[in-house]
Amino acid sequence: MSELRVRFAPSPTGYLHVGGARTALFNWLLARNQGGTFILRIEDTDVERSTKESVDAILEGMKWLGLDWDEGPFYQSDSFPLYKEYVQKLLDAGKAYKCYCSAETLDAKRTLAMQEGRKPKYDGTCRETADSPGDQPYVVRFRAPEGGVTSFDDLIKGAITFPNEELDDLIIQRTDGTPTYNFCVVIDDASMRITTVIRGDDHVNNTPRQVQLYEALGFPVPQFAHVPMILGSDKARLSKRHGATSVIVYRDMGYLPEALINYLVRLGWSNGDDEIFSSEEMIQKFDIGNVGRSASVFNTEKLNWLNAHYIKNGDPERLADLLLPHLSALEVTTLNGPELMSVVKTLQERAQTLVEMAERAVFYYNAPVSYDEAALAKFDKELLLTVFAAVTAKILTATANNAVEVDALFKEVCAENSWKMGQVGQPVRIALSGGTQAPGIGEIVVTLGVEETVRRINKISEHLKAAKA
Ligand code: GLU
Repeated sequence: MSELRVRFAPSPTGYLHVGGARTALFNWLLARNQGGTFILRIEDTDVERSTKESVDAILEGMKWLGLDWDEGPFYQSDSFPLYKEYVQKLLDAGKAYKCYCSAETLDAKRTLAMQEGRKPKYDGTCRETADSPGDQPYVVRFRAPEGGVTSFDDLIKGAITFPNEELDDLIIQRTDGTPTYNFCVVIDDASMRITTVIRGDDHVNNTPRQVQLYEALGFPVPQFAHVPMILGSDKARLSKRHGATSVIVYRDMGYLPEALINYLVRLGWSNGDDEIFSSEEMIQKFDIGNVGRSASVFNTEKLNWLNAHYIKNGDPERLADLLLPHLSALEVTTLNGPELMSVVKTLQERAQTLVEMAERAVFYYNAPVSYDEAALAKFDKELLLTVFAAVTAKILTATANNAVEVDALFKEVCAENSWKMGQVGQPVRIALSGGTQAPGIGEIVVTLGVEETVRRINKISEHLKAAKA
């Protein structure tokens, strides 16, 4: 194991967002690439907004994506005593102080500053006051350095410098005694010995404050890598407005985890012009320094293309397992009918999602109850009945256990009767599936079996005769 220690630190206030998943992925890849340690930390100090359901949803999303962690999940809410201890340490060292300014006073000062065109900033009233006004409520503020600058070298964005005068004395403990966000993050990252903090660049403004806290506490400052945001097609930050943003919703829409992972890794990271990466390849090639500086736009078409690729090349047995819940959602049971794995093999060439595949698999288990009449109407009814009779007779002579053989039988029927393939294949496809969008005729016949094929052809023949009568 190398010394590298990274963490993913979601706040459990919703589901696992694709942006969060990408942050987790980059952390995970770096850890796996370097033989480091990947830690999962749940940032649940905001008790009002954090929920158990959200924690479960985040863990479920991580597991589905295969982003396994080495330590944790740790919960910030378990560390309150530790945060308190460090607040006290800073107070004792004179690096933090109690501030008794009331919310009303601070509000009034803030309003005045804005009216006068000054930046609203804590004016330091309690910073130098030694005497405490008894048992009045107070917050604890960090005594931030006054002059100079705070800088860090971001692994993605390069050198970043903030003038200290822009950073006022941060509240590290509220009047109710609870620690605040930036403070907890520093204590956790330091006590978990995090060496590299990879997170969304919406946190970039927190970093100088955190760097100051590390320095005040005498902790080594980790490296930082702020990953640019993911945007929607209109270049606004990706949100529900643009479509699904929850990882689990992508699962439910029929995406494969490897397709989503492959899609996410390329949102910001590149390795030449390569597009397709197995997990092993990603791990081997990942370099945080190759993450781009600009935001990326979420492109569902590309995700669909990748998903189709992974479905096409996927193991049919695994796909069959993954397809089952989607079939159940359509109330299709596979107990009576062909083996699901053979069905998958006929569909994986063309499906973009498992939901699409499930929809296309229905006819194998539920014989059509109606037909694409418009498509049927393109054929002469008498001829259709003759075609169906000839096909049935031919199929009954065969064992039909491979698609090539069956296709040859259809060719024979055509040759013997001087029919074109279009006059035979399409009507049979309608007979077997109800419509014209279905796999190759040989594949369907083999998958359904001769008996069921003949049953369905007889059924459509009855239907045609009834319509004629
Ligand atoms: N809890 C923060 C979030 O969900 C992450 C903070 C961090 O990674 O430092 O945005």
